[in-house]
Parts: sequence; C-alpha cells; structure tokens
Amino acid sequence: CGIVGIVGNQPVAARLVDALKRLEYRGYDSAGVATIVEGKLARRRAEGKLVNLEKRLAEEPLAGTTGIAHTRWATHGAPTEGNAHPHFVDGVAVVHNGIIENFSELKDELAAGGATFSTQTDTEVVAQLVAKLRREGLGRREAMHAMLRRVTGAYALAVIFEDDPSTIMAARSGPPLAIGHGKGEMFLGSDAIALAPFTNEITYLVDGDWAILGRDGAHVFDLDGARVERPKQISSAAAY
Ligand code: GLU
Repeated sequence: CGIVGIVGNQPVAARLVDALKRLEYRGYDSAGVATIVEGKLARRRAEGKLVNLEKRLAEEPLAGTTGIAHTRWATHGAPTEGNAHPHFVDGVAVVHNGIIENFSELKDELAAGGATFSTQTDTEVVAQLVAKLRREGLGRREAMHAMLRRVTGAYALAVIFEDDPSTIMAARSGPPLAIGHGKGEMFLGSDAIALAPFTNEITYLVDGDWAILGRDGAHVFDLDGARVERPKQISSAAAY
C-alpha cells in the first residue's frame, strides 16, 4: 500500500512505477497508474507484482506529464485488476490507502441518487462523491473539500481531474503522505523514500490536512478550508 503522484513537465508513467518500487516494502497485491492524456484520463492496472504493471505499460505505453499511482493492499473487494486503483468516475481519478469507514452509508446514498458502482472497493465512494459534487456545480477544489467533510476513516488520498492536468489534490487522515518539491514539478508520496530520486525537499502533511499541488508549489489547507503552513524539510532518505 503506497501512493505516488507527479504533476510534472516530462512523462511520468515510468517514474511513478519506479517510485512505487521504493514502497514495495509495505506489501501489496495489485497496482495501477493513471495519467491525463490529451484531456482524458488513462490508466494501466495489474494484479500481483509491479513487474506485471510494467509489462502492461510496455505493451501499451502511457503518455502524460501528470499522474498518480498506487500499490493496493485490499481491504474491501478482491485483489483483482477491476478493483485495483486508480478508480475513475466521470473524469475524476482517485487512489487511496486506508479504509473509508462510512463507505456503505455513502454508497447507498450515491446509488439512490443514480450512481452505478463498478468496483467492490470502499474507495470508489470517494470518486463517486467528488464526481457527483462536480455535477452539482462545485469547482474542483470545493468538491474535494466537500468530499473530505463527508468521509470518515483512515485515508491517504490523491485525486486528479481530467479537466485540469496541472494539479494533483491530496489529503491525509491517518496513513502518511509527503509532498516533494522539484523544479517545475511537484511530487506526492507515502514517504520521503519514494520521492528520494526526485527531490530531498519534503513537506509532510499532518492528519486533517489536504493540499493542492501545482507544478510550481503546493498549498495546504485544514478541514475548515483555511490555509495552513507546513515546514519544508530536507530529507536524508537515500536516492538509490
Ligand atoms: N481500502 C482500499 C481498498 O481496499 C485501499 C486499500 C489500501 O490501503 O491499499 O481498495
């Protein structure tokens, strides 16, 4: 179970998978990567080891300079390719580590409103909820914030929107999440070790934080939507 993301200026798929390898020590049963290619979300997913995902990418390469990737340790739903993250709903892509405690209540509510679920995961409610909030007219940032105020449980989340390839949104409540500062690129990862090949300038999110990453920096917010300042630290994680 690990998360990485890059909002970049060069292709990201191979770099995302390399960063996931640095999180393999956490264990996982499947993996996936999503990017935005010509205004559309695209993804490759595979059961089992990262080498299977690399094979998929070799067969069918994935372009795109912004993306998110995930190693999954299934808690809800079998470890199949179909349940592997990233999950897509109406132009919203989500990866998640942890458990959404109130997912069944949210799922019933969303299904009653017409949502069709395509996975057995708890995570899909996050993508469905953000997509619904956007259909109701909320902007990307407002939809992310409103979603975070509805979900309970433990999560590290990364979200991208196909209508904004210059942004990644992230949130933390439990599992760790770190922002990495690059030059014209910004990074997201479960820890500084994952990001060490890219940068040693790290900002750790605190529980209850959420963040918007652009190519030139990141803004961090609390659950009330107020800006918060988190220090930039120099990580000593080795880049090999
Ligand atoms: N609960 C989610 C799932 O089963 C995420 C698991 C994880 O932390 O990788 O899909």
